[in-house]
Amino acid sequence: MADCIFCMLANHEIPTSVVYEDDEMFCFKDADPQAPVHVLLIPKKHIECLDDLKEEDAPLLGRMMLKIQDIAKDLELDNGYRVVSNNGEDAFQTVKHLHFHILGKRKMTWPPG
Ligand code: 5GP
Ligand code: ZN
Repeated sequence: MADCIFCMLANHEIPTSVVYEDDEMFCFKDADPQAPVHVLLIPKKHIECLDDLKEEDAPLLGRMMLKIQDIAKDLELDNGYRVVSNNGEDAFQTVKHLHFHILGKRKMTWPPG
């Protein structure tokens, strides 16, 4: 999508710090990290949020969920990590392209803010 910042990052139209990339997903460092390790995993396909997923996206999402363990290993998140997806206004989703935050290397608290 033309005016989507995450599409631009995934298309290499804007440089960013790439953590992992293949044909269908893109993982990069968050510009405003909330933990010593804070990366974002996105589908290259523009999907606004979880509500917009279609049945046909199930294999892609499954592969993304499986990829998280490889990314966590590469980032040495051996002591645990948090995966967050903010969806919609109440969850404070600021970028309207589905993304999974992967946060680690600090003790998290619960409930989240
Ligand atoms: P949300 O609030 O939508 O769940 O998270 C969006 C995330 O994207 C935020 O953590 C924010 O720091 C990150 N972000 C927004 N714009 C950019 C950008 O241009 N580059 C990078 N690397 N991260 C961004
Ligand atoms: Zn997009």
